[in-house]
Amino acid sequence: MSEAKKMFHKDFTLQEPIPEAAIARAVDVMHSGKLHRYNASPGEIGEAAMLEEEFASYMGMKYCLACASCGSAMYLALKSVGVQPGDTVLCNAFTLAPVPGMIENANANIGLVEISDDYTIDLFDLERKARNPSAKWFLISHMRGHIANMDRVMSICQEHGLVLIEDCAHTMGATWDGRKSGSFSLVSCFSTQTYKHMNSGEGGLLVTNDAQVIARAILYSGSYMLYEKHTSRPDLEVFEQYKLMTPNYSCRMDHLRAALLRPQIVNLDRQCQHWNARYRLLETLLNQISCISCPPRDPKEGYVGSSIQFNLLGFDEPKVRRFLAENEKRGVYLKWFGSAEPLGFTSAYHSWQYFKDLPVLPETNRILSTLCDMRIPLTFELDDCRLIAEIIADIAEEIC
Ligand SMILES: *Cc1c(COP(=O)(O)O)cnc(C)c1O
Repeated sequence: MSEAKKMFHKDFTLQEPIPEAAIARAVDVMHSGKLHRYNASPGEIGEAAMLEEEFASYMGMKYCLACASCGSAMYLALKSVGVQPGDTVLCNAFTLAPVPGMIENANANIGLVEISDDYTIDLFDLERKARNPSAKWFLISHMRGHIANMDRVMSICQEHGLVLIEDCAHTMGATWDGRKSGSFSLVSCFSTQTYKHMNSGEGGLLVTNDAQVIARAILYSGSYMLYEKHTSRPDLEVFEQYKLMTPNYSCRMDHLRAALLRPQIVNLDRQCQHWNARYRLLETLLNQISCISCPPRDPKEGYVGSSIQFNLLGFDEPKVRRFLAENEKRGVYLKWFGSAEPLGFTSAYHSWQYFKDLPVLPETNRILSTLCDMRIPLTFELDDCRLIAEIIADIAEEIC
């Protein structure tokens, strides 16, 4: 008689509650009635401006702008660095739908670059595509927190005159060789959407050291000529040359969400350690399963393991589908990037058909065809991770 199959019962989409300090601050903002970021009395610094100062300081960068989402921050970033309609923006092909979405929003073309077996951008393909004289912009997306070799990325950008923009939606709190992810590029963007490393429901943070870029980003975000109220900004003269030439795209963050985020910055590094304890345990246990491989990570990569990815070695599509279905029956929800049809948060590059002439990327296709993805919410304890790995191992044993 076989013993009862173990089941997992926790919710993969359940994040921790908002910290009490953040709730208290948000309640204060609601009592004040002053929710709009420019609704502050003379001399008063609003929550949004304080959040910007605190996040810039956390990042060790000069300027920060709080935005409605990471997607809107990326849009403002592309416009503020000067991407023109018809320009090509190079980008790794493994990323989330808002990234190509914002490139399209800027009326630019996407130059998709292959990925490698460790899910980071293929640096040889990048170099090949960077040689094209029309390539000027490079939006690197640290998808699911996988950080490419930034030493090589920076030298390729330098050699070919590429302007770098970083999408750090999954690398808030992460580092490369001790240096913060998001501090390598001219401008970088972070997400505070619920499933990222700080939670305000929706939200984005743009950071830069460049006075021109931040002035333009503030104006584009919709500052109604109230940019003086920003404290994370250059001198007012910098705005003069742009203020009548910059449309208002209305992408601001409000005081309420800023209030939710400020206390979370204080906890961020500790939260990252909690994610990594879970990640490292899962990585060890999953790598013990013969047909599962979590790719090795570069020792210079100070990642934040808020999700884990692995490939199913030698699996064809029917086998992958069976593996996913069996896991789901036992309460383990895995996402898969190899599906022809985009599902939920997982769309692969071939489904971004609003771009004409999408390339076929054989390496990326091969890697995505067996790529599984699992969230690691901090509501899971280490024992939960052990149980998840045990269930996956059970199923793999039958299917491998
Ligand atoms: C979540 C995410 C985004 C977009 O963030 P939003 O705040 O939801 O707009 C962009 N890139 C990646 C890699 C993401 O994971």
